[in-house]
Amino acid sequence: MVQQKLELGRYANFIASEWISPSTGKYYTRENPATLEPLAELPSSGRDDVNHAVEAAREAFEKSDWATRRPAERARALLKLAQIIREESDRLARILTLENGKPLKFAKGEFIFTADVFEFYAGLARQVMGESYQNSSQIYSIASKEPVGVCGMITPWNFPISLLAWKLAPALAVGCTVVVKPSSYTTAITFEFLKLFERVQEIPKGVVNCVSGPGSVVGMELVRHKDVNKIGFTGETGTGKVIMQNAAMSLKRVSLECGGKCPNIVFEDADMNKALPGAVWGAFRNSGQVCTAGSRLLVQESIYDEFMEKFVEKTKEMKVGNGLEPDVVLGPLISKDQLEKVLQYVEIGKQEGAKVLYGGRRLSEKGYFMEPTIFVDADNSMRISQEEIFGPTVTVIKFRDEEEAVKIANDTVYGLAAALWTNNLQRAMRVSSQLKAGTVWVNTYADLYPEMPFGGYKESGLGRELGREGLEEYLETKHINFDMRPQVVMWR
Ligand code: NDP
Repeated sequence: MVQQKLELGRYANFIASEWISPSTGKYYTRENPATLEPLAELPSSGRDDVNHAVEAAREAFEKSDWATRRPAERARALLKLAQIIREESDRLARILTLENGKPLKFAKGEFIFTADVFEFYAGLARQVMGESYQNSSQIYSIASKEPVGVCGMITPWNFPISLLAWKLAPALAVGCTVVVKPSSYTTAITFEFLKLFERVQEIPKGVVNCVSGPGSVVGMELVRHKDVNKIGFTGETGTGKVIMQNAAMSLKRVSLECGGKCPNIVFEDADMNKALPGAVWGAFRNSGQVCTAGSRLLVQESIYDEFMEKFVEKTKEMKVGNGLEPDVVLGPLISKDQLEKVLQYVEIGKQEGAKVLYGGRRLSEKGYFMEPTIFVDADNSMRISQEEIFGPTVTVIKFRDEEEAVKIANDTVYGLAAALWTNNLQRAMRVSSQLKAGTVWVNTYADLYPEMPFGGYKESGLGRELGREGLEEYLETKHINFDMRPQVVMWR
């Protein structure tokens, strides 16, 4: 058989600033999900590689001056990195599109957001403040902040670089060192991104390392490793639970950003010019492969027919295709497995009694393309309303009044995000305070800022990323007590 040329070639693990072949000698091939051509060969690493990377990260934490140098110097290193990310964003965006499928302009947006996140945490690096307390004129206490240590970061494929940045930037800002385990579907772009660190000499070797391979091997070794102090994870809720159970063996700190089944509520008093595109974008952005996808669209009975007619029209306008082509809005799904899973949910939805109003089919034999798909005649108890499908599908549910909308919205194990569309300010305040979700959007969808925290209620996760809270996730607090009295009385 003639071996097809790989556009991106073969990669190695990144450990202590060196590119090292996996100890297993094994590689796997990642294909381009739009063309199905082989794209890159990636290390399928094992336990020894994880141990090596953790040792490098530990040595950098204990022996380099990364954790102890002045915060302003770490901040400058992160700002330099952010500048390089901006300069390289076009080139890297193309590689992200090749490996993940998302349209080029959104791939570029991911790098711009990533640079923004590093810039934000570079600023916060200089504002890590503890507290002090004076018990008497001779007794002082300080609650000081310290970096948590060596951090494992396990990332998903849907926003592989920005979701890594949400972990990496705060961890580096406070002086932690890191071992990254990327999703097996987006490993090449992760290595390409980490190559940028080689151009920032201010970051010592071993501060950032990356080992690729199956989550059940490489990810699990990181989670169980006694010398890893913290795991930052984004991925499925089921995987998050397994990680938490295993991290418990060493009472390791964990932060988990997991799944969602987000309600997007359109009230009769909404501005339809905003709500319509907002609902379409909320549901189908990134081909629905988004933890915050508005995959349950709740529409008030009184406007339902008119709204749905326009919703279908707008959905039809979305061009599906290879993300390198201009005007494409929805790229392929990430893999054959993912496409099959989503198509299976189309069948499940029909069997449950829902109707496919639009879409529901694979679009071509070559590439994992799928039509945006709209389920109607659905209720909230169906599997298509309760389970995270992670594809271009939306389940539309009618509601009578505000009380029913809130009840349906909260009736899920997830609590990541929610949105509502209304021109009534009282209603906006009332409903947003009743929704059990870590983010609530009012008259918009999907906006996130480095400055504001993101995370889930209920089974959508644990802890927060972004904002000041995202920094706290990588800090330990130590109480230091100074007793200046001439004699200490230990008992009376
Ligand atoms: P997975 O949970 O399958 O994988 C996420 C990461 O965990 C991958 O790097 C994976 O490696 C690794 N992994 C898998 N099994 C284990 C294990 N036993 N121990 C340690 N690591 C493991 O999620 P996906 O990559 O499929 O990503 C999609 C999911 O991510 C969706 O469910 C989505 O809701 C969620 N998500 C949540 C977000 C949030 O912020 N709440 C944001 C984005 C996505 P490998 O690839 O090798 O299997």
